Amino acid sequence: MSENPTYTIKVNKAETSKIGSVNFDDLPFGSIFTDHMLYSDYKDGAWGDPVIEPYAPMPMDPSSRVFHYGQAIFEGMKAYRDENDEIWLFRPDQNFDRFNKSATRLAMPEVPEEIFMEGLKHLINIDKEWVKKGKGNSLYLRPFMIATGHGVIAAPSAQYRFMIILSPARSYYQGEVKVLIAEHYSRAANGGIGAAKAAGNYSAQFYPTRLANEKGFQQVIWTDDATHTKLEEAGTMNVFFKINDTLYTAPAGERILDGVTRKSILELAERENIKVEVRSVLVEELINAAKDGSLKEIFGAGTAAVINPIVGFSYQDTYYELPKQDNPISLQIKDKLTNIQHKLAEDTFGWTV
Ligand code: PMP
Repeated sequence: MSENPTYTIKVNKAETSKIGSVNFDDLPFGSIFTDHMLYSDYKDGAWGDPVIEPYAPMPMDPSSRVFHYGQAIFEGMKAYRDENDEIWLFRPDQNFDRFNKSATRLAMPEVPEEIFMEGLKHLINIDKEWVKKGKGNSLYLRPFMIATGHGVIAAPSAQYRFMIILSPARSYYQGEVKVLIAEHYSRAANGGIGAAKAAGNYSAQFYPTRLANEKGFQQVIWTDDATHTKLEEAGTMNVFFKINDTLYTAPAGERILDGVTRKSILELAERENIKVEVRSVLVEELINAAKDGSLKEIFGAGTAAVINPIVGFSYQDTYYELPKQDNPISLQIKDKLTNIQHKLAEDTFGWTV
């Protein structure tokens, strides 16, 4: 807790817990929530004391700006319980920083660190029974902010609500992931909001992703909007390519989200003497590498799945299948990262809090 807290967290506990009715062996990702939620309201230029209360629907004015102009941002992070029953966060400072960068881009107020961090820790502590032990188990944490000011006026809201909700999760395996390389649609453009975790970035992906699903692909690999020649992200994950013995990933920037998993993989790879190059890979390069056999692996990286291996990709109606690897680098890295997250390996980076 902060030494001199500016805010007092008010707590109104649920009378009973829902935990007994939850089957922790069968948790559809992101659809079951813990007993409590946190919110703090912003008005007259200041944040109010955070409130923790039972998870429940909340009334909203139909003209709230979030519904009309999409001022909505979020974060995705996880808490883990180790073998000694201690609960850990993974690099929460990174999510906090990114949250406020998103806020600035969407003309929303920054959230004070105390509300974000102490609020998060307090809420997790109240719902700590929901964080289960064992590799693969985690509590998915979803801080978000919406514009609550009313009026259908296309200008930034003067009122906002910051909230945190928590959802127990099992490591999730999506099955075999085949991807379609985007030839027309884009996720982000220079000068746009691709670097923010803004709700609108996700709704804009749904339609092209649905078209890909209908063709039998689970995800889209997004390319740059101007030329569609540079490979940027895979669905809602950063993407890595292993060509010969080198891992490639595009630089984070205006069009590419600065993923926490991505940057952790880069630091881990450096320590493990795995060759990495941060640069854009061209579609043409990928196809040539697939044809001459130098393309070994493609994988997505993000908080929800940690690492998601991709088995093949399609471009201009030609499908390229990746070779099977005996000991893929994607799974080696995943193991190292999840061991740190679950405190099964020493965290020499100081990532766990
Ligand atoms: N790109 C996008 C578009 C995402 O939504 C996410 C998930 N937050 C990522 C990359 C991966 O980021 P992280 O590793 O911080 O979860």
